[in-house]
Amino acid sequence: MKFRLLLALLVLPLGAQTTPFGTKVSDPASAPATTTAPAAGGVSDEFVDNSVQVSPFRPTLLPEAKSTRTFQLSKLNRLGSTESTKELQRLYSAFATQSIVDGSPAGSSKAVGYLTSVTYSILQDLGDNRYLAKAAWPASGPNEALAAGVDTMALLLLEKPAKAGDTGKITGMHVGTVAVLFTPDFAPLKGRRLTLRREAFLECATLEDSPAGLQRFAEAITAGAELSATTNETIPCKKCGGLGFTREAQKGQLLDKRVPCADCASTGKLIISVETKFVP
Ligand SMILES: [Zn+2]
Repeated sequence: MKFRLLLALLVLPLGAQTTPFGTKVSDPASAPATTTAPAAGGVSDEFVDNSVQVSPFRPTLLPEAKSTRTFQLSKLNRLGSTESTKELQRLYSAFATQSIVDGSPAGSSKAVGYLTSVTYSILQDLGDNRYLAKAAWPASGPNEALAAGVDTMALLLLEKPAKAGDTGKITGMHVGTVAVLFTPDFAPLKGRRLTLRREAFLECATLEDSPAGLQRFAEAITAGAELSATTNETIPCKKCGGLGFTREAQKGQLLDKRVPCADCASTGKLIISVETKFVP
């Protein structure tokens, strides 16, 4: 799934050949922005390298679910089953926020990075719908795995062309950190060839969290689509059986000694990441 999405990203931007954000520029013919414009400050006849190279630096790492379970649609609201309408709605909401609308046969795919709302102001157009922007986004993912960004530079791959100074807000999928080699055309870095390592986001649309969306979701499962959602769930601690302590026999005494459970910090409960697979 991940590989397929990355392939889709590859063909998205015109001329991109290597990565979601990266355009290979080793072939001189594919380096469109190399010009002989005068350097900053009006010094003429100085060669300014305006080519852009974007390479992956650190990929997004989504946490592996600690446990898996199934949700059987045919058991919905049956006496004695855990499959309730309320539970289905809750899981669908999680599924919707973890999926992005794309051109795959199912119409959507599992997001391969954290989704967050990114507010931006474009600093520079890097070509192929890639932009360097001043951006801000709230933390996202379990335990805020993607830290919040405040007034920080980020690389954006937008759906529509934009220009420096444009502002906006998108749903962005975090695709990791990339290294951008370019020549800034904004103050105070103007004209200095440099490499920045920045978080990169791909503009995308999430599934609609609505009754109609849930209906399509249920139909897709019935038709055999393999779908799952990952949520944080509170479960009884296995080590202490949910009691918060374990017993230790005391020599010569009737009563066992109670030892506080370290696994659950004596709460008797654990919060773990659970992948729920949906079956017809
Ligand atoms: Zn415990």
